Amino acid sequence: MDAKEDLDVKIGLEVHCHLTSLKTKLFCRCPADYYNKEPNTNICPVCMGLPGSLPVLNEQAVKHALAIALALGSRVSQKMVFYRKNYFYPDLPKNFQISQYDKVGGLPLATGGQIRLKDKVVRIRRIQLEEDPAKIVYEGSISTSPYALVDYNRSGVALVEIVTEPDLTTPKQARQFLQKLRAILEHLGVCNCDLEAALRCDANISVRGGYRVEIKNIGSFKDVEKALSFEVTRQKMLGAKRGMETRHWDDVRGVTISLRVKEEEQDYRYFPEADLPPYIITEDLIAETLAAMPELPDARRDRFIKQYNLPHQAAEILTSHKSLADLFEKSIEKYRSPLRIANWLISDILGYLNRKDLDPSTLKIAPEDIAALARAVDEGLINEQTGRNLLLKAATTGKRIEQKIFAEVSKIGDEATIKALVDRVFKENEKAVKDALKNEKAINYLIGLVMKASGGKTDPHITRSVIVAKLKQLS
Ligand SMILES: [Zn+2]
Repeated sequence: MDAKEDLDVKIGLEVHCHLTSLKTKLFCRCPADYYNKEPNTNICPVCMGLPGSLPVLNEQAVKHALAIALALGSRVSQKMVFYRKNYFYPDLPKNFQISQYDKVGGLPLATGGQIRLKDKVVRIRRIQLEEDPAKIVYEGSISTSPYALVDYNRSGVALVEIVTEPDLTTPKQARQFLQKLRAILEHLGVCNCDLEAALRCDANISVRGGYRVEIKNIGSFKDVEKALSFEVTRQKMLGAKRGMETRHWDDVRGVTISLRVKEEEQDYRYFPEADLPPYIITEDLIAETLAAMPELPDARRDRFIKQYNLPHQAAEILTSHKSLADLFEKSIEKYRSPLRIANWLISDILGYLNRKDLDPSTLKIAPEDIAALARAVDEGLINEQTGRNLLLKAATTGKRIEQKIFAEVSKIGDEATIKALVDRVFKENEKAVKDALKNEKAINYLIGLVMKASGGKTDPHITRSVIVAKLKQLS
């Protein structure tokens, strides 16, 4: 079961998701794919905020953000308005970020909605579309770096911000929430969450009704849990500073450090972005998006349970990673052994990935190979353990499994398999065993029976020695 609720703790998350499936940035025609580019080359006057440049909304971004809002069951605004969030920082050459605001007449893309965890419903407060600021690069840790470098390639890339109500009560729940959200985004096909900084998270936490602390710069789901655990302990021991505080997660040292007293909302001087007219979200657009909605993780989990007779837990784990669920279904298509294959993927493959801190999407196992291994085990060509070993080898090397290996494995002498076959033949042929105990020549007949039972795959020499040893035990 999950960790107990800690009613002293209130955690809310603010997740930023890059719409990596877009071709261009949110308000200009620079490519959205800024990865692996020379710093400050993926830019134009609009995303650099040069005087006289005007933003134009990327409508594709609205559609993708709308898909997210509808998938989370949020209420979509009829009209979407952009606001300027004013602040000065090197990552923002315009001195304002084009974002949305949910007060004083502002209308975010959507409000409300929820994500269901195993024993918890987490409410969504709002979902909005905004541009990403630049990336600031430090040498080593933020607190000790002698300089900061700014790369504007990322400036203006479309971000969807998803803000939750403070419904979470443990760091572990926060991680589970993010995993669920990630699975939904993957199934929607709007975000390749694997890419660096594609899914980022800030967390708000208050302990025993104290002041709220915001933790920024949390890079991975594991770090969300670590940073929040650190903060729970720190705040329980020391309390929170008066007023809201922003702290930075230093993943190198495993601590949060104070950055500044958090800005109040009025510090940002939000006001409407006059360069962008309000965007009307029509009923047609909503209907179109709903009609194109793919199967989402919860529905897929329920289908796995029904269609493949999987236990709830197994179906939940498989569908929490789109690539793993896809691999499962593609393997089942080739050879229908759902329980065995689900079990292999969850305990062997996911176990391996977790140990190596890798994502399932990096796997290079062919579904044909998984199917062939499962079939080979069912047909008694190899035993269960050999199947798992071969699968793990394929996962670690990324190489295809050669079919002749099944025959070789048993011929080289998979003793456990041969022993099991010999046991079965002995049980089913009591008379032949009695004969062999009396007459050494009758052993050949037993060897023949074992060879036949294995379809001629067992190594005759090993088979003989296994039979002789067993006869010795009996005599
Ligand atoms: Zn640009």
